[in-house]
Amino acid sequence: MTERKTVGDLAPGEIRGRRALVRVDFNVPLAGSEVADDTRIRAALPTIAFLRERGARVVLVSHLGRPKGKIDAKYSLKPIVPVVAALTGASVAWCGETTGTAAVAATNALVDGGILLLENTRFLPGEEVNDQALSRDFAKLGDYYVNDAFGAAHRAHASTAGVAAFLSPAVAGLLMERELTYLGGALDGPRRPFIAILGGSKISGKIDVIEALLPKVDGLLVGGAMACTFYKVMGFETGKSLIEPERVELARGLIDRAAFRLTLPHDATVAAALDAPKTVRNVKRDAIGANVAMYDIGAATRESYARAISTAKTIIWNGPMGVFETPPFDAGTLAVAQAMADATEAGATTIVGGGDSAAAVERAGLAHKMSHVSTGGGAALEFLEGKLLPGVECLDKRGAE
Ligand code: ADP
Ligand code: MG
Repeated sequence: MTERKTVGDLAPGEIRGRRALVRVDFNVPLAGSEVADDTRIRAALPTIAFLRERGARVVLVSHLGRPKGKIDAKYSLKPIVPVVAALTGASVAWCGETTGTAAVAATNALVDGGILLLENTRFLPGEEVNDQALSRDFAKLGDYYVNDAFGAAHRAHASTAGVAAFLSPAVAGLLMERELTYLGGALDGPRRPFIAILGGSKISGKIDVIEALLPKVDGLLVGGAMACTFYKVMGFETGKSLIEPERVELARGLIDRAAFRLTLPHDATVAAALDAPKTVRNVKRDAIGANVAMYDIGAATRESYARAISTAKTIIWNGPMGVFETPPFDAGTLAVAQAMADATEAGATTIVGGGDSAAAVERAGLAHKMSHVSTGGGAALEFLEGKLLPGVECLDKRGAE
């Protein structure tokens, strides 16, 4: 149960025959004018189906890319029309405008259960500055508002936040609800032991997450390049590893405060360069040479992290354990992914957040074995940092009529 109202809270009479303005996250990768990956479109299907089954007239709006407030044909949402049509088995109307007379007319032409897709919200200069006049224009496209764009919920834009002030009810879609249930559930009332695994390249991007999670978790396991900034504090040689010298003091503070709850890799997979396979070695963390870089957690660490994961009841993972894009430095990331998949099977709640981590789990073919893989990279991080998301805060509260 989230504290925000969802489509499930709407009365049948609020849905049937009325226009649902649904903000989705169709910010998909395109290859020319083809959708290269339809994951985000699929993620919106439950909400679209839920509304259509109840007779809603579904008006879909989304951004795509960064056209910066100007019309730019390469960021048109038109290529998405056939994909939505194929995935829903319904015909999908298209309007090359985002707001205005033609767009409003297209919404009024919908029949019950019909679907309309409008053009890119970021073609309009008011979108990213959360312009009030544009928010009012968006509000004319629907009779109520549904935000299902979790991936854009950390942005206070006209279509993700501003519009909600001018449409009532304003509720979460099913994807948004799922994201809030899993991420929020882990933060508010996790089954214990609760552990977090954090990796990625930079400690600087993850400090707020570490700070926010430390008081809540039973253990925090560190991987990725950020481990090396912690190694600096411990006085280890880090060679050519990616470290952030200006964050060493911060890392020292975290180690002091975290005490036994923070675990750093015991060993490392190092190499002279990413493309020097003959130089790959597994070394103890105090034996990283001056001429090599740590590109992955080592074999002993993989085993001990997998063991920790197997004893936990709630596990949140953000950030790859190594340079997973370049084998063999994907071993640590794969080991964590596999351990999480096994933990899910054994009854644990497993959550993956972060764009690269989600991609790694997807590539390993293990995404479906996680309890939840967040669709929001930046949004998931900000949520885990304890920040309020404008795209959530703008929605109606449950129990407040
Ligand atoms: P996410 O998108 O899941 O939040 P990040 O963006 O923080 O993850 O980090 C992902 C990047 O971190 C990947 O491109 C990966 O190659 C890089 N990375 C992980 N470990 C290392 C390392 N030891 N050295 C250099 N880069 C690393
Ligand atoms: Mg990333």
